[in-house]
Amino acid sequence: MTEELNPFKIAQEQLDMAAKLLKLDPAIHSLLREPKRVLEVSFPVRMDNGQVKSFKGFRVQYNDARGPCKGGIRFHPQETLDTVKALAAWMTWKTACVGIPLGGGKGGVICDPKQMSRGELERLSRAYIDAIGMIIGPELDIPAPDVYTDPQIMAWMMDEFAKIRGYNAPGVITGKPIPLGGSQGRGDATARGAVYTIREATKKLNIPLKGATVAVQGYGNAGSYAAILLEEMGARIVAVSDSKGGVLSEKGLDPRAVLQHKQKTASVVGFSGTKAISNEDLLETQCDILVPAALENVITGKNASRISAKIVAEAANGPTTPEADEVLFKNKVFDIPDFLCNAGGVTVSYFEWVQNVYGLYWPVEEIHDRLDKIMTKAFNDVYDVHLRNNVTMRMAAYMLSVQRVAEAMKLRGWV
Ligand code: NAD
Repeated sequence: MTEELNPFKIAQEQLDMAAKLLKLDPAIHSLLREPKRVLEVSFPVRMDNGQVKSFKGFRVQYNDARGPCKGGIRFHPQETLDTVKALAAWMTWKTACVGIPLGGGKGGVICDPKQMSRGELERLSRAYIDAIGMIIGPELDIPAPDVYTDPQIMAWMMDEFAKIRGYNAPGVITGKPIPLGGSQGRGDATARGAVYTIREATKKLNIPLKGATVAVQGYGNAGSYAAILLEEMGARIVAVSDSKGGVLSEKGLDPRAVLQHKQKTASVVGFSGTKAISNEDLLETQCDILVPAALENVITGKNASRISAKIVAEAANGPTTPEADEVLFKNKVFDIPDFLCNAGGVTVSYFEWVQNVYGLYWPVEEIHDRLDKIMTKAFNDVYDVHLRNNVTMRMAAYMLSVQRVAEAMKLRGWV
């Protein structure tokens, strides 16, 4: 990873810019440039062939001034500590941006889940919780799913934590299956939240959502549900992709049928009636709304000027580099920044945690209604700062969130 694409360096630079605009107290600024706590672990896992393999994992607790740390766990072969630190910082801004009483954290394990059996994944998930168990808990730090982790993995992790502590504590982890205390509406929450912010953006920009064309990069949890929900609202999905490549159809794709195809063949590639495109082509597809929903640093100084979309809705974390941000702003591409756009996941995770702590569960309609109110308010709060200060939506989101975290730190007497 080159230094300019190091996500943590990018997260620090973005904070520095917000701190300057806010004239932030230097003591608060310097505390916010680094995580509060970093745990790096190595642990053994017995593989199906009988051999023991050692894996490396991380848990980063970035800031807990506004509440317990909260953030997902990634299983990825290219996971790095700096990526986890950046994601933990973004979680801190995300929970503050949507105004929920939580801080920011993140976890990751360097592994290739696509090459592992379910049994190996279960043993890895349990071993990771054994290794980080002493620093997580419902009042301390609450993990969740992220790239290549799913509700079943959350169930194994919750069970392992219960074994360590000797009692049930469903609030230790969110994104669980519903029979184990998962929330209604968690499955599509990230995408649904993103779609609510897209709806608000189209209102501000006077772009009718009905008939708007959409390209989605990444067809996992965030991307596939975003495509399905946008199509339900009348938009036309013209291109989608995953790690193996992309497909294009100007007439429009049926996102549910694409998902079935991916479930059958492990990729969107080869979906009938489409033209094959690369992930690079997908980003430059002629469309009104581009939804990056895969990994970091895909919109860069190199391709930003070729983005034709009017709205970029960052369902993924960190898809746009600072250099690309400037180009998009200059070209009047309206960017809904990651920690606002994809905050629906953590918001419904927060609902899950509240329901676990209360032992009282809400119907899905109530989840959707509460999520819509929170996302709409957050979008409009950020939009107001954007207009008032003539800064990008990303910088506006930073200014709002950093100020909220700084206020909590001051009130606690940390500085
Ligand atoms: P996922 O594992 O369900 O899906 C990831 C998708 O991206 C897969 O379709 C995969 O094939 C594709 N992909 C991987 N590498 C790619 C590449 N190089 N080019 C194109 N596609 C590629 O993951 P997810 O949960 O949907 O997460 C996607 C993004 O959304 C991540 O940035 C994640 O941090 C962010 N996010 C997810 C949640 C959530 O609740 N799931 C919440 C907030 C943010």
